Amino acid sequence: MDKFKVLLAGAKDRLLHLLFPRTCFHCRVDMARGDKNLLCPACLKELKFITGLVCRRCGLPLKDGGALCFACRKRRSKRFKCSFIRSGLEFTPVSRSLVHAFKYEKYIHIASFFAPLLYKTWQNNPEFFEADLLVPVPIHKSRLRSRGFNQALLLARGLSGLCGVPVADVLARCAKTKSQTALGRQARAANVKGAFVCLDKAAVKGRAVVLIDDVCTTSATMEECAIVLKSAGAREVLGISALRE
Ligand SMILES: [Zn+2]
Ligand SMILES: [Zn+2]
Repeated sequence: MDKFKVLLAGAKDRLLHLLFPRTCFHCRVDMARGDKNLLCPACLKELKFITGLVCRRCGLPLKDGGALCFACRKRRSKRFKCSFIRSGLEFTPVSRSLVHAFKYEKYIHIASFFAPLLYKTWQNNPEFFEADLLVPVPIHKSRLRSRGFNQALLLARGLSGLCGVPVADVLARCAKTKSQTALGRQARAANVKGAFVCLDKAAVKGRAVVLIDDVCTTSATMEECAIVLKSAGAREVLGISALRE
């Protein structure tokens, strides 16, 4: 009987593969049957977890070392509200494909691929251990309607399941901002200025909060969220992103 079940399961597997051959999310090569990875072995090798020297504040990889990246150094006199950011993967064509499939092609199960990477980033940095809450970077409600989910909330839930810190979805994006992708550093900061509100000040008052986002580029979005959380009474605001551009 057991043998029959195994045979049946195998047949189901083969049939599924025949009907819906799974392909690598980056190079689209057919995946070997039974390979549950999102990427083919060659692309999987191209994923780079951030190790080595990074900016002390924003976590940007620094090829030549130093304590702070150029942008954080320039602003040193003006203290950042988001005091510490770290990210999981380097932004490469392969990691970009995964985020793209997750956000735009709505393969939401990719969130469970990123969760352990966020957790690894968490574990590597004791700064996060005192956190009380995980707060996802919000998307505007019109985008939420068209996409159907906030990718940052799914990531925050995934991380929460591993680190045990609860999620508080307390921020809203009130202004419909332009996509940050095509904008330079200053334009990005201006684009998100005043774009967020805190919906539940009591929840964040006196708390150490970790912002969660899919991609961090200039950290302007996290900084703007942190300004709002700090003025709502948060004690400390840190950030984790899945990717670092
Ligand atoms: Zn591939
Ligand atoms: Zn920096």
